[in-house]
Amino acid sequence: MNDGVVLGRFAPTPSGFMHSGNLLCAMLAYLSAKSKGGKFIIRIEDLDALRCPRSAAIDIIDTLETIGIKSDEKIVWQSERTAAYAAAEKALSRVAEVYPCYCSRADLHAPQIKRLPDGGILYPKTCKRLSDVQRAAMNRASAQRISVPDEVITFNDGICGEQSQNLASCCGDFILRRSDGVYAYQLAVVVDDGESGVTEVVRGADLLYDTPRQIYLYRLLGLPTPKYFHFPLVCDATGRKLSKSEGDSAKRLLKTFSAHRIVGELAFAAGIIPEPRPTGIDELIPLFSVDRIPRDRILLPESFTE
Ligand code: GLU
Repeated sequence: MNDGVVLGRFAPTPSGFMHSGNLLCAMLAYLSAKSKGGKFIIRIEDLDALRCPRSAAIDIIDTLETIGIKSDEKIVWQSERTAAYAAAEKALSRVAEVYPCYCSRADLHAPQIKRLPDGGILYPKTCKRLSDVQRAAMNRASAQRISVPDEVITFNDGICGEQSQNLASCCGDFILRRSDGVYAYQLAVVVDDGESGVTEVVRGADLLYDTPRQIYLYRLLGLPTPKYFHFPLVCDATGRKLSKSEGDSAKRLLKTFSAHRIVGELAFAAGIIPEPRPTGIDELIPLFSVDRIPRDRILLPESFTE
């Protein structure tokens, strides 16, 4: 548990190679914690073992080490934490309605289902209305969903400012465990950050929309909510969003440039230093401030993404 110091983390999903956006995320999370005299941990979010080979995770850990980022504690692997998630699911079912959901992918993607801005769906509560008898008659594996109240969750993001979301209309009852038994990111991230005593979460704005439902789980589990910092989208030099499939893998970068050059270029892109110059990551600790991070988007140098 946390002993009063700042604890930051980087929590990659090893479903592919790291790209420079992921590297930057690790750097910002590391620098933010270290600049406050805090500690930093790495957690591997390999919940879905089929999509997340161990080799990809090792590759991420090695890449981070090459640029000077190491975990201050033993690395947590989510694939080894199923018992903790099962216990949390049980605890949640005591304080909220957690119910089995039998809907198929086709049911959930029917045209009448409302889509959310994050690509998810607003679940129409079909299975919430099933009686015990109907549930008993279902002859297939169920996912588990948690019911959300008609309540607005508000939090103050350290970069994006005040955020509010009504859980019932903007999120809906969401999955805690998939029908194949794999626990959902939303549950695992809260259980693990909570148990490690993480005090601040620095990550990309693509997860800003998920944050209220995570805060909801923190509250139900009686865990303190970390402070959030969502940095803007990382784009190539032309302003296009990066994706893992593009050729800017960190591996390729490390073949082309020195680790110090990469760190310097990324630090410049994130506003930490006024011009790109090769530097070690720890030299940036006293220079880091979230106030310097661009508010609209972070543009990578052309040479990184071409
Ligand atoms: N594992 C998630 C990802 O790689 C990030 C989780 C988080 O930072 O909360 O996208």
